[in-house]
Amino acid sequence: MDKQNKRIYLACPHMGGQELPYICEAFAQNWIAPVGPNIEKFEQVLANYLGVKHVAALSSGSAALHLGLLLCGVQAGDEVLTATMTFAATVNPIVYLGATPVLIDSEPGTWNMDPVLLEEAILDRLVKGKLPKAIVPVHIYGMPANMEAIMAVADRYQIPVVEDATEALGSRYKGRAVGSFGRVAAFSFNGNKIITTSGGGALASDDGELIAKARFYATQARDHAPHYQHSCIGYNYRLSNVLAGIGLGQMEVLEQRVAQKRALHDFYLARFGGVPGLQFLSEPAGDYFSNYWLTTVLIDPLVCGFGREDLRLYLESDNVESRPAWKPMHLQPVFKDCPAYINGTAEHIFDFGLCLPSATNMDADDLERVGALLSHCFTTHHAGASV
Ligand SMILES: *Cc1c(COP(=O)(O)O)cnc(C)c1O
Repeated sequence: MDKQNKRIYLACPHMGGQELPYICEAFAQNWIAPVGPNIEKFEQVLANYLGVKHVAALSSGSAALHLGLLLCGVQAGDEVLTATMTFAATVNPIVYLGATPVLIDSEPGTWNMDPVLLEEAILDRLVKGKLPKAIVPVHIYGMPANMEAIMAVADRYQIPVVEDATEALGSRYKGRAVGSFGRVAAFSFNGNKIITTSGGGALASDDGELIAKARFYATQARDHAPHYQHSCIGYNYRLSNVLAGIGLGQMEVLEQRVAQKRALHDFYLARFGGVPGLQFLSEPAGDYFSNYWLTTVLIDPLVCGFGREDLRLYLESDNVESRPAWKPMHLQPVFKDCPAYINGTAEHIFDFGLCLPSATNMDADDLERVGALLSHCFTTHHAGASV
């Protein structure tokens, strides 16, 4: 295929090179199972990296969120507060448990759960009859949520926090890894995330008993008995020892991937940060350190003369993938009846937001190609766009 038309992806797997030796070890020892030494090592390496005491490796980020909510006591009929600006996988596990998602809009600075609106929502839910059972903030696109303010609200009403850190491995808030603030946090190693095990996830917490219970539920909730006895409903949610080997190799290059993602964001910002009508999702000053999983930009069509969909289609015409910002959950047909506390920010992000190619294995030529396409779009349209 002609190099010029090589597909450039939004985000894709990027192996470090040391994954295969770990997989070979699993084969050599015949640990081709959801148990084995790679899993234990992977959990330890993750816990050390995050600065949390315990980690359970699981089959997906969705599984981690499901068990995190379950272990915070969420039951059928409960309400759970979460962000509307997210991927459906944040909200689905709330419904798996028979609970009702209550959707909270974003603050403009981080695009994440607005802490003021969060408190208003809690007070309103109390007036309507009950205290929500959990709060699930999301660190969207790798940008940390305002955890100080969110934890203050959570503590005031004694509501446990389950962090959705699935997009944010490597991100920090006030110097601490995201995922180390709430009672538990979920991580994902899906193929499109900053590191991958092809599919996988993890639950992290300082609470050893909680993580022990997560392992119990993730292995079909078997009681301590040789005859397979069960006192509650379990799941098959453990990570494979083969895939944990990929994770161990990937952890060796995680800091490199964070640096690469941040360099991509810097590239876009340096080239296009000054273009009128464009606004990048960049770290607010001070406490925020983003892994910049995806570099994302708001495009004002009244200023630019074209919208995010025009730009997406233009990039696609040269085989370059980009994607609209997440469609907010309160606009999704499946969640349209959920209670929602809306200030317009998420809808604005959806209308104007585009995720730009952020794959760490783009080479200099690929990046130059994307840069040239963007430059072309901005200069051609700009001339005629004196609205
Ligand atoms: C990827 C993702 C998940 C789910 O992770 P999986 O490993 O794909 O199940 C949950 N929430 C958000 C915001 C995500 O981006």
